[in-house]
Order: sequence, then structure tokens, then C-alpha cells
Amino acid sequence: MTTPFLWHNGQIKPWTEATVHVSTHALHYGSSVFEGERVYATPQGPAYFRLADHTRRLFESAKVYEIEIGYSEEEINAACHEVIRANHMKSAYVRPIVFRGAGGLGVLPKADSPVDVAIMALEWGAYLGDAIEHGADVCVSSWNRPAPNTFPSWAKAGGNYLSSQLIALEARRGGYAEGIALGHNGLLSEGAGENLFLVKNGKLLTPPTSAGILAGITRESVMTLAGELGIAVEERDLPREALYTADEIFMTGTAAEITPVRSVDRKQVGAGRPGDITRALQKAFFGLFDGTTEDKWGWLTPVQVE
Ligand code: PMP
Repeated sequence: MTTPFLWHNGQIKPWTEATVHVSTHALHYGSSVFEGERVYATPQGPAYFRLADHTRRLFESAKVYEIEIGYSEEEINAACHEVIRANHMKSAYVRPIVFRGAGGLGVLPKADSPVDVAIMALEWGAYLGDAIEHGADVCVSSWNRPAPNTFPSWAKAGGNYLSSQLIALEARRGGYAEGIALGHNGLLSEGAGENLFLVKNGKLLTPPTSAGILAGITRESVMTLAGELGIAVEERDLPREALYTADEIFMTGTAAEITPVRSVDRKQVGAGRPGDITRALQKAFFGLFDGTTEDKWGWLTPVQVE
């Protein structure tokens, strides 16, 4: 999965040279924030999807945890382009990460404790494999998401992914592709690494961003595309049983893109295959990258050639 080069603290380096010390703060206390973004091979060449929005979210996540990135958003954007160029990639999954480095132990970081910034680009196909075609078999997790005012879910922080690991590990143990978690209030929240959409009577339903979920960039893109297609979208509280009575279900994320769900807790969703609205949204979304959907929003940024 590795590539020859990555970007680390201002420089392009060989992959193997970007190492950290075992006293790194983030290893002990989870003090990292990160992003996941994609570069797609378009007819005009490789292009980032919503890079500026991902970088913005990275800075917002860092702000919540009072982590000083030490570079501007423009510099991070430029570094994201650089890492693609350095590896001569046509498409990629890109992982910028900002973390408190080796500045001594103690939960409270020292005022002058170092912050590391790295950007990796990986070859990464469909996150949940051929489920993108046929639909994923998922379960409702026995783990709830943390309550609001415990771990801020809008911040994409490394520590949040302990919750995601519990959900995903339990799902795998049960033979499922992914787990969907309920929030602290027993209502639907999101998957281990994806936002959640249901279709009922032709309408798209999704839990609100106040439901302890990550405010997903793919989620927002899908809502915009649904508007273009004349599909009504409602953000609202949804109980668990909405999963068992939905006509269609799909999950969204940078890695997962738009992945249909064909069963929940071994109960079939709709006809047991991706439904018409899911298909239409997949077509509109992937059409952005082959040029069949017009990019009216300036979401794509061609990878800059030097
Ligand atoms: N929720 C969680 C917990 C995630 O990890 C992700 C993936 N980043 C998402 C939702 C989807 O967010 P996005 O569409 O911005 O990738």
C-alpha cells in the first residue's frame, strides 16, 4: 500500500524515512487530527475532490484541540498537490495528519511541544470492495457513539477512531462488512467510517450533524447532488427501526464513496440490491470524475503541474 514518497514537516521524503519517536504525544493520548481525501483520474488528468474543504476541516479539527499546524491552508493544499506529483499518481487516497509529537509525556502538552504534519498518498480502491456494486451486509453495533460534549464529533481526531474500531471489529467478528452505531440517545448516528442515508417513499433521510456524527464532505456533496436530481432530503432524528423499514440505504464517505447497503442485521433492505435512488446518486457522483456530471460547484481541482 506504500508509495515511494510522502510529505513530512515541509519536505518530500522517502516513505521509509518519515518515522516518529515512541514518546510521541499522539501515540499515548490520541492527539492527532487528520483528513481523508481523494484524487480521481478525470479526462483532464488527476484532480482533487473538494481539497479546500478537507483542508478547512483539518484546520477546524486542530482548532478544537488547540493544535497549531504551523503551515497555512494554502501551504497544506500545495503540499497535497506535491505528494501526488512526487509519486506520479493518477488517482489516490490522500491522508494528511497533524499530531502532537515527541515533546515529553504528560496529558497536558507543554506550551512549546512539537507538532508534526505529514501527508501520505495511497493507492486505495473501493473501501468496502464490491459492496459498491452489490450492497454491503451491515449490522447495528452494540457500541454507541460518544455523547455530545464528550468527544467532539465534528473534529476528525485520531482518538475518535477508538469508537470506530470497536464498531468495525465487532461487525467483522459477526461476519458483516460494517457496523452502524446508535448515538447516546439510542437514535441512528453513522457507520464506523461513513455517514448514513435512508430512502423512504422517494425521500432521502439522514441523521442531523448534531447527532454526534462527523459532518461528512461526501454527505454534503450527496445532499447537493440530490437537490440537482429533484430528490427531497430531510435531516432528522431517525430511530433504529427506520433501518428495517427503509426502501434503500447507503453509506457515504471519502473512502466508502457511495456504498449501498443490502441488509441490516441480516434483514434484507428493499429488494436486496441497490435501489434506484442510490444508483442515480452514484451515477451523479461518479459522473463528476468521468465528466458526465457537470462540476457546477468547483469541487474538482486539477493536480497542479509544476
Ligand atoms: N463519519 C466518520 C466517522 C468518518 O470517519 C468518515 C470518513 N471521513 C465519514 C463519516 C465521512 O466523511 P467524509 O465524507 O468527509 O469522508
